[in-house]
Amino acid sequence: MAAGIIDGKACAVGIRARLGESIKARVDEGARAPGLVTILVGEDPASKVYVGRKQRESKEIGMHSEAAELSATVTIEELLAVIERYNARDDIDGILVQLPLPGHLDADRAIAAIDPAKDVDGLHPLNQGALFTGREGPRPCTPLSCMHLIDSTGVELRGKHAVVVGRSALVGKPVAMLLLERHATVVMCHSRTVDLAAQVGAADVLVAAVGRPRMIKGEWIKPGAVVIDVGINRVDGKLVGDVDFESAAARAAFITPVPGGVGPMTVAMLLSNTYEAALRRG
Ligand code: NDP
Repeated sequence: MAAGIIDGKACAVGIRARLGESIKARVDEGARAPGLVTILVGEDPASKVYVGRKQRESKEIGMHSEAAELSATVTIEELLAVIERYNARDDIDGILVQLPLPGHLDADRAIAAIDPAKDVDGLHPLNQGALFTGREGPRPCTPLSCMHLIDSTGVELRGKHAVVVGRSALVGKPVAMLLLERHATVVMCHSRTVDLAAQVGAADVLVAAVGRPRMIKGEWIKPGAVVIDVGINRVDGKLVGDVDFESAAARAAFITPVPGGVGPMTVAMLLSNTYEAALRRG
C-alpha cells in the first residue's frame, strides 16, 4: 500500500488564504493590520532565506511587516535594546528573533527579553511553562505545524501510540506535549534510546525531529502509521528528511515529504500566531 502524501504546501496555502480574509475583514472594519517584526542577526544564508519567506508571506496576507537586520558583531545589550523597542510599540504584535544567533549571543536571554504576549515563536519560558501546564499561550510553530498535518489526515489522536524521536526544546519536547494534550500515549526517544527500531515500530503516529538524513528506515515503520518528518538535511545539494521516504511510504498510511511537508506549514503557523496575538492584544 502506498501512503497518502501529506501536502504541507497546500495546507499552508489554505491557512494563509483564511488568515488573509480574516485580516482584510478586520481592517475593513477599521482595525489595524497585525504587525510582525523579524530580527535577523548576521549573514547566515539559510536564516536569510527563512526570514525572507516570513517577510514575503506576512505581507502577502496583509500584515504590517518589518525586518530588523543587525550586524553579526552586535552585542547582547544592543540586541536586547532592539527587542525592547519593539516590545514598546503598540503596532507590533509579534517579535521573531531568527535562530540560531551568532555564537557570542545568548539566545535564551534574547528570547526571554521578548514580551511574552508578542512571542509568536512560543519559545519564551513563560509560554513554554504554559504549554507544559496546559494553560493558554502561543505554541511553538514547528510543533503546531506537525499537529495540523496530523489533523489533516483525519486520524484521531486520542488513545493512539505516538512516538517522538528527538527531545529538543524547539521541536521534540513541545510536540510531545501537544500530542499528550490530545490524549495520545507518548514515548519520547533520543540518542540514548535502546532499540529505536522497536520503539518506532510501535508508533501509530511517528514524529521524527533528529537532524540525521534518512536514519529512520522504512522497515521500522508500523504498517498504517502516520509519519511526520521534521528533519531538514542537505545531502549532495538535495534536501532530505530524517525518514527514508521511499521505503517508509510503502508502509505508512500517511507521510510528509521533505521538502514540502512540515517546513512550509511552520511559516503559516508563525503567521497564525501573529494574527492570534493581534486579536488578544486588541
Ligand atoms: P536538535 O539537534 O536540537 O535535537 C536533535 C534530537 O535528536 C536530540 O534530542 C538528540 O538526542 C536526538 N538524536 C540525535 N541522534 C539520535 C539518534 N541516533 N537516535 C535518536 N535520537 C537522536 O535538533 P532540532 O530539534 O532543532 O531539529 C531536528 C531536525 O528538525 C533538524 O533536521 C532541523 O533542521 C529540523 N527542523 C525543521 C524545522 C521545520 O520547520 N521543518 C524547524 C526546526 C527544526 P539527545 O537529546 O540525546 O542529544
